[in-house]
Amino acid sequence: MNFPVQHLSDEAVAAYADGVLGRTARTRAERHLAECPECAYAVSIQREAVFALRGAPLPSLPNGVAHRFRRCRVVCSTVSGLCQRRRS
Ligand SMILES: [Zn+2]
Repeated sequence: MNFPVQHLSDEAVAAYADGVLGRTARTRAERHLAECPECAYAVSIQREAVFALRGAPLPSLPNGVAHRFRRCRVVCSTVSGLCQRRRS
């Protein structure tokens, strides 16, 4: 009797590639990866993507966006203050 193959989820692939799975989940994933070229390929693609992102330069903000964020923070803190006053 053949059971359907239970592949690693996208989240498990990403977590395994990032090295953040716990011991039990990592061991289970390693067992599956040893026998599943499809998931092993997904992990290799995930690792390549992480490597490429780590080597990429930080994006710069368009002109004026940083100013708008600072202004938004002032507005949000003002609104928050108003909400706190209403509660008391
Ligand atoms: Zn698989």
